[in-house]
Amino acid sequence: MTDKTQNSVPTVYQVVIIGTGFGGQAAAINLKQRGYTDFIMLERRAFAGGTWLQNRYPGAAVDVQSPLYSLSAMPYKWTQMFVTQPELAQYTQQVFNTFNLTPHVHLEHEVTNSQWDTQRQLWCLNIIGSDPIYSKYIINATGPLSMPVIPNFPGKETFTGVNFHTNNWPDDLDLTDKRVAIVGSGASAVQVIPAIVDEVKSLAVFQRSPHWIIPRPDMTFAAWMQWLLGVKWIYNTLRSAIYWGLETRIVGFKYSQTILNLFAGGPAKRQLQRQVSDPVLRKALTPDFTIGCKRIILSNTFYPAICREHVTLFDKNNGIKTITENGIITADGTALDLDVIIYSTGYDATDGLISYPVIGRHNTTLASVWDDYPRAYLGTSVPDFPNYFIVTGPNTGIGHTSAIFVIEAQMHYIMQAIDTVEAQHKQSIEPTVQAESKYTDMVHREMEQTVWQTGGCNSWYKSASGKVIAMFPGFSFIYKRMCQRFKLDDHIIK
Ligand SMILES: Cc1cc2nc3c(=O)[nH]c(=O)nc-3n(C[C@H](O)[C@H](O)[C@H](O)COP(=O)(O)OP(=O)(O)OC[C@H]3O[C@@H](n4cnc5c(N)ncnc54)[C@H](O)[C@@H]3O)c2cc1C
Repeated sequence: MTDKTQNSVPTVYQVVIIGTGFGGQAAAINLKQRGYTDFIMLERRAFAGGTWLQNRYPGAAVDVQSPLYSLSAMPYKWTQMFVTQPELAQYTQQVFNTFNLTPHVHLEHEVTNSQWDTQRQLWCLNIIGSDPIYSKYIINATGPLSMPVIPNFPGKETFTGVNFHTNNWPDDLDLTDKRVAIVGSGASAVQVIPAIVDEVKSLAVFQRSPHWIIPRPDMTFAAWMQWLLGVKWIYNTLRSAIYWGLETRIVGFKYSQTILNLFAGGPAKRQLQRQVSDPVLRKALTPDFTIGCKRIILSNTFYPAICREHVTLFDKNNGIKTITENGIITADGTALDLDVIIYSTGYDATDGLISYPVIGRHNTTLASVWDDYPRAYLGTSVPDFPNYFIVTGPNTGIGHTSAIFVIEAQMHYIMQAIDTVEAQHKQSIEPTVQAESKYTDMVHREMEQTVWQTGGCNSWYKSASGKVIAMFPGFSFIYKRMCQRFKLDDHIIK
């Protein structure tokens, strides 16, 4: 298939993977295991690895047990149950080494546009840092949480101190004796705050709405336990036990808020009661929506940190009025002089899921198809976008288990789709309009039952349409089964 560059002849690959996070890695490993070698992995950054290489903020850690939050092809002797970012970065490096992925990687290659060329039956990709290339298949693995968002606070650009999103933590930052504000109180902020609280002179925390926080059942693995993790069947047994333990949580998220309140709400309230003695602060930290409606956060150290004397909580009644050259002025007129503003303001996980224009058959743009809300067959493929597969696409997110489980489920579908085209010596595959509509209708019908839709919160799971786009509304094993059972009739193969 390859027609590598010679003078002006464009390069053609069989598969281009966009992104080098766990999604891109899983795609590459699966392709290799099936004998496809003519593929490249494009990465906009100067390093490969995705989420855990990019998010280097203090305290960054996974909130799914590590034996489950790992690729099935790559067991690992983890040092603790919920590992921190440096170990995930090491793990990622080991994945690249073990599966010899590095030769496929092209760093600092940001895709800015991809267009289906009907005549050539290929995708044409425009890339910063390279000539356009062509590819028969695209596996888009650009990540569900890789487009950081900072709201347009008035005066934001005027601040002369250091300011950044947690996604872009400066490597050489020294916060010793600095006056710091952190904007946001979600999952990343809850990890950052305890990690920097001892260092800073003062810390102002701007919270739009409080989150439910449950204890983090962490443990370190002693040397003998790590030895056991090296035994494959023991690793897989532990992985299964964690998986099925977490999977039961969907009963609460979908079918019974009573169960959710009992098993998650109870521990969250008790921890808040135990760790925050000031009733005013406790009230400000108590969410007004059903637990589970937003991502449940795991932490044992956040509340003790926020209770420290040099930490001040600004809630929605006294938020940011304006940002000035010197700091922040709050709604009640308090002027805070600051050295550093940290934005922990999340990601665009719905409407901005794919950041570059994708143009399919008949010049249809993905943005226009997704004008109402993002949608895809199995969250992965879209009519009129042949041979284009979206890893962690619409409604593939998961709040109760590992995102890697879903990524690997998607691989079953993507690989069978590619195998089918290749086995039939055809050029393209795409889902039928009917199959995609039926699937999407089912997703949003089922979503009506979930706490994400009905729990009384406005979360990043929802797109501007008000529909929950970031989550799959059911058991993850059911999603996996749908991906495994490839339905030829749901597709057009040409
Ligand atoms: C701080 C943080 C904590 C998280 N914690 C958890 C957790 O505890 N449990 C869990 O299940 N999930 C968690 N997640 C979700 C996490 O995103 C997934 O678990 C998983 O890592 C996604 O992998 P990915 O490969 O799809 O995306 P990513 O790891 O985000 O990789 C996408 C890659 O694509 C590259 N890219 C993007 N656009 C382009 C372009 N146009 N051209 C070229 N390259 C591009 C990016 O630079 C990036 O390297 C967390 C996410 C974040 C940000």
